[in-house]
Amino acid sequence: MGGGESGSDRVARRDDAVRAAVAHGLLGPEAPIIALLDVPGIKASAAELRAAFDAVTAPGTPVLHAFAVKATPLVPVLRLLHEHGIGAEVASPGELALARAAGVPPSETVLDSPAKTITELREALALGIAVNADNPQELDRLNGLVGDLPHGPNGGPAGSPHPRSPIGIRVNPQVGGGSIEALSTATATSKFGVALRDEGAREWIVQAYADRPWLTRLHAHTGSQGIPLSLMARGIAETYALAEEINRRVGRQQIDTLDIGGGLPVNFGSDVTTPTYAQYARLLAEAVPGLFDGRYGLVTEFGRSLLAKHGTVVARVEYAKSAGGRPVAVTHAGVQIATRTVYAPGSWPLRIAAYDTEGRPKAGPDVVQDIAGPACFAGDLLAEGRALPLLEQGDYAAALDTGAYYFAHHYAYNSLARPGVYGFASVEGGNANGNGGTDVRFAVVREQQGVEEIVAESGGARPTALTAL
Ligand SMILES: *Cc1c(COP(=O)(O)O)cnc(C)c1O
Repeated sequence: MGGGESGSDRVARRDDAVRAAVAHGLLGPEAPIIALLDVPGIKASAAELRAAFDAVTAPGTPVLHAFAVKATPLVPVLRLLHEHGIGAEVASPGELALARAAGVPPSETVLDSPAKTITELREALALGIAVNADNPQELDRLNGLVGDLPHGPNGGPAGSPHPRSPIGIRVNPQVGGGSIEALSTATATSKFGVALRDEGAREWIVQAYADRPWLTRLHAHTGSQGIPLSLMARGIAETYALAEEINRRVGRQQIDTLDIGGGLPVNFGSDVTTPTYAQYARLLAEAVPGLFDGRYGLVTEFGRSLLAKHGTVVARVEYAKSAGGRPVAVTHAGVQIATRTVYAPGSWPLRIAAYDTEGRPKAGPDVVQDIAGPACFAGDLLAEGRALPLLEQGDYAAALDTGAYYFAHHYAYNSLARPGVYGFASVEGGNANGNGGTDVRFAVVREQQGVEEIVAESGGARPTALTAL
């Protein structure tokens, strides 16, 4: 396979980080839950993504890898990725603001979203951010906005307006769904994009490009967790075939860039990274060779696959009890950081690692137990009936592969605080006691939320708002 770092390196870094977090007091009785980000791991994934597509594209092909901000909407993460050659895919004013705060330039930012307002579209065009229109009504809005722009020389026929923003249309190739209905974007009735196989849709799209010389991109995002790679490749092959048809029928290379979306699934079952970006890029190069021959620039929008395996939530076991003969570890990690897992455990199982009171991997025979969260409903379980070394009071339970769509997606149930997020990296050759070995350096990405902040965002500034009505 080549290039990829091994899962065992990642496990060693994680174990060092958990132990050091306890030693440094980042984790303990007064800070019973934290989230950790493996900075060397994130850098390695960014490098693997770039190398995978470099290996299959013709030299000189413009390729923008735009990280799907929704996966991990944290400014320092976006900045780190940007410094390692990755832009940003945004889908709301908030996500755009995060990308801008991280210093991601408009030329490396892509705006998707099925519900862009006129104000959002106008701002994106003013900044020169790439926009993918979701539907005919959005394209109508863009007509008006593009018509208001200054006219210029290189945007198509003489005198026609040409936005600085590259603009495309999102299509849904309707190739079918995967094992998780809520994440299947290419079903016949998906809410995203123009449904390509619907009656008349293909003709409408070709005409839309023929009428608008400023439409230069075509976008599809056919996957996410649970979609087989072969199905994703089919979606991209159909999108490519449409671009070829449009260019043939308008008589020029009007579509110059294809945005192939993200959606590479993540292996939540072990520490091995599979599938890899290299595997996916090779599969695409075999299935759709014309996509990589240099006639098209490429945009990708990976989210989960860049960050999931580099995040860990570590929570203290506040109490260890037993109910109906089953041991239950009551921890501080539950529905507030693992919402999908708690509400849909069949689709989103998480691996749990057991650490002792000093943050060392816990040894001992496996015992079937529940790992519960702090929220006040019975279903608040991180894992049910899981075989692990017995978690006891003061131990730590770590929820693995939670770097995307977990701790950065806080759910405010029970007004539970957002945990602090720390990035870590190893420092070789010296620990805090000066006696050699590996120590770990931490950087605060986000402070733990304080109760004042919880009160403030819960209407705390206007306690009498309703009594005075
Ligand atoms: C969510 C999303 C992505 C990222 O998907 P992942 O499964 O996290 O890779 C990319 N593009 C669009 C349009 C999305 O909505």
